[in-house]
Amino acid sequence: MSGTPAPVIDLRSDTMTRPTAAMRRAIAEAEVGDEQFGEDPTVCELERRGAELLGQEAAIFLPTATMGNQIALRIHARPGDEVIAEQDAHIVISEQGGIAANAGLQLRALPGERGMLTAEAVREAAFCRDDNHVPRTGLVTIECTHNGAGGVALPPTGIKELAETCRELGLPLHLDGSRLMNAAVALGVPAAELAGSCDTVVLCLSKGLGCPLGALLAGDAGTMRAARREKHRFGGAMRQAGIVAAAGLYALDHHVERLADDHARARRLADGLAAAGVAVIADRVETNFVLIDVTAHGLTPADARERVAAAGVLLSPAVMPGALRAVTYLDVGDDHIDAALERIPAALGPQVDPAQRPPRRSALRGY
Ligand SMILES: *Cc1c(COP(=O)(O)O)cnc(C)c1O
Repeated sequence: MSGTPAPVIDLRSDTMTRPTAAMRRAIAEAEVGDEQFGEDPTVCELERRGAELLGQEAAIFLPTATMGNQIALRIHARPGDEVIAEQDAHIVISEQGGIAANAGLQLRALPGERGMLTAEAVREAAFCRDDNHVPRTGLVTIECTHNGAGGVALPPTGIKELAETCRELGLPLHLDGSRLMNAAVALGVPAAELAGSCDTVVLCLSKGLGCPLGALLAGDAGTMRAARREKHRFGGAMRQAGIVAAAGLYALDHHVERLADDHARARRLADGLAAAGVAVIADRVETNFVLIDVTAHGLTPADARERVAAAGVLLSPAVMPGALRAVTYLDVGDDHIDAALERIPAALGPQVDPAQRPPRRSALRGY
């Protein structure tokens, strides 16, 4: 024993990725200009590449995906309109009520099927009549991969069907594709096939793609013209932002296909944990997330998180009741998975009788 404690393995989120040495070189060498004037060549190139990747006409570069979602709410709908969203979506539970505060919209939250809002559910819920009482449904939003559902990819046919229904009903469809590249790689389809039928799409660059920050919002040229005004209003118009956009271009060239490595490591983690008796929620392991039902071990998510942290692995609270989340990403290697496979089962202990399990409450809601 050397006496030095084993390093902590951080599986809280793929937002923990740090720029690699090669990405930092791309950042250092970036050509820049004034982005607010449309004169930063690196930003312009990233916007062009992003639009193409996402199957849209145009894109705008933003500091965060949250800003992209908030802009989408404002450009598609008017105050007093209703937005239909999946109830556990990031835009509903993780954006500080921006639906109401920034866009003046009323929320109609629906339960999804593995995170997916079906065309049928939207058809049933939408207010499409010209009426003095009912609000106008202004917008439908979906999320892919769906964070709350365990990082699952929405089915491409389901997205297309929903897009057709929305078009028929005259409703814009926004896709929060913060982790869209994870879905594209896991499904083996081009991102444009998932996003091209939606009116707008957000892609986050600072999750699995490994940039220090940044996001893209894409749509048709007219919509992106309106989006640029909103971006300015939110304080998101920048100056020599090519410094950051260079990381985005680097990520599109070098960090997309490698997401398959993150998915393979998540799979190995899930299978290894399950083999060691851990209550993995196996049917949700599709991309870089692994959900664990810690109540099956007789623990609340808060207690389980503390125990696992004491053993040297950081997990995050999951949206799913009773669950904790492990996420793989660029900085998590095979050695980290090996160590996590030793530490997590030991920290959680064996599964217990149903009578000894605490209620399955969400780590985000309830006490
Ligand atoms: C992380 C995330 C966002 C927000 O991304 P930021 O760039 O951190 O603002 C939005 N939606 C989903 C689904 C996310 O996971």
